[in-house]
Amino acid sequence: MNGGRISRHEPQRTCVGCSRVKAKRELLRLVVAQGGRIAVDWDQKSPGRGVYLCAQRECWERGLKRDRIGHFLRTKLNLDNREGLMAMAVNLVSQGDALGQQARRAPIQSGLE
Ligand SMILES: [Zn+2]
Repeated sequence: MNGGRISRHEPQRTCVGCSRVKAKRELLRLVVAQGGRIAVDWDQKSPGRGVYLCAQRECWERGLKRDRIGHFLRTKLNLDNREGLMAMAVNLVSQGDALGQQARRAPIQSGLE
């Protein structure tokens, strides 16, 4: 009953960073890949447990800080995983339109203004 424009058939998932419910295709899915690495499941078709995150660095940081990502994936994130995820998150900011969303440009730190 709220805003009938979104298709009701659109699958929705919750971002583990900000807890907002969004259309699945607007989110990125993370899965535990071979060797215990955390990887982005771009096709969202990998079997097994996955978590969803907005394509926003903030959400990834939150997910890591509260260790929600590890919790929901039922795995322990080691430093390597965490650094890998943060590297991906940084990447997402510069490629913010990877999912057809509005690019969120990272402010350039100039120290001026
Ligand atoms: Zn989010």
